[in-house]
Amino acid sequence: MTVPNITLNNGVSIPQLGFGVWQVPPEDTRAAVATALEVGYRHIDTAEMYGNEKGVGEAIRESGLSRDEVFITSKLNNGFHAYDDALKALDKTNEDLGVEQVDLFLIHWPLPGVGDFVETWKALEKAYADGKARAIGVSNFQQAHLQRLLDETEIVPAVNQIEVHPYFSQNALRAFNSEHGIVTEAWSPLAQGKIVDDPAITKIAEAKGRTPAQMTLRWHLQRGDIVFPKSVTRSRVEENFHVFDFELSDDEIAAIDAVNRDERIGPDPDTFNWIP
Ligand code: NAD
Repeated sequence: MTVPNITLNNGVSIPQLGFGVWQVPPEDTRAAVATALEVGYRHIDTAEMYGNEKGVGEAIRESGLSRDEVFITSKLNNGFHAYDDALKALDKTNEDLGVEQVDLFLIHWPLPGVGDFVETWKALEKAYADGKARAIGVSNFQQAHLQRLLDETEIVPAVNQIEVHPYFSQNALRAFNSEHGIVTEAWSPLAQGKIVDDPAITKIAEAKGRTPAQMTLRWHLQRGDIVFPKSVTRSRVEENFHVFDFELSDDEIAAIDAVNRDERIGPDPDTFNWIP
């Protein structure tokens, strides 16, 4: 099963399918990531906020894979948006992961009511120049937030990691990302498991002999987004990985497009200003 790579705007390659570890308890993370690596995943999405970077690093080291065979993303936690705090937080992330440089480092949330995310982005630019991350990007940035970075800073974010799933298809923001060379990463790609019971998706899945999760992941992949579904159940980890030996037809894509109801599960980035 070969996972395609996507080339980011600075030339770095990222596997289009990865494994997400939000809500995987720290004590279970090493085993969960070990399973994902055994199944064949080579891209792990974590964050300082998830509290499990150490387990991610341990599993990768114990896997026998070399460092450059596994792509690691982590994210700046909300309490560290000040310039110096952001630089220190990335050093701590690299230390906890046990790596010289993380592959991709993101501002987790823009927190527009808290401080100035432009200053935070300038810290990430400095860290990138210093080799602390192979690529830098953002998460949960709306168009207006991205526009400020485009107008006021040097480096265009490599990715914007945003909530996207069949109930929240985000086509306008995805189009804005792509116009500016920013790759969309779709978080909660399975709508946190809710799509499994969707009647329209179940119907086309049954007709094709695939599962609703596989149909939904294919929908994302064929739209060009990067995904990293999360599961701690081995059979689901395998199921979510086996999505490269079939394709959705235009009609099947249209059937999944039709379930959109512009409904978020997560917070609205324009008003979310939470600091843990
Ligand atoms: P998801 O859409 O990946 O759904 C995960 C849940 O779906 C699992 O807990 C499980 O209950 C169920 N599931 C998974 N595979 C299944 C299968 N094959 N069949 C049936 N049920 C299945 O949701 P998520 O974990 O919220 O998102 C994935 C990743 O996105 C996270 O782990 C994290 O890395 C990232 N994320 C980022 C942000 C952000 O703010 N940047 C926010 C949320 C998630």
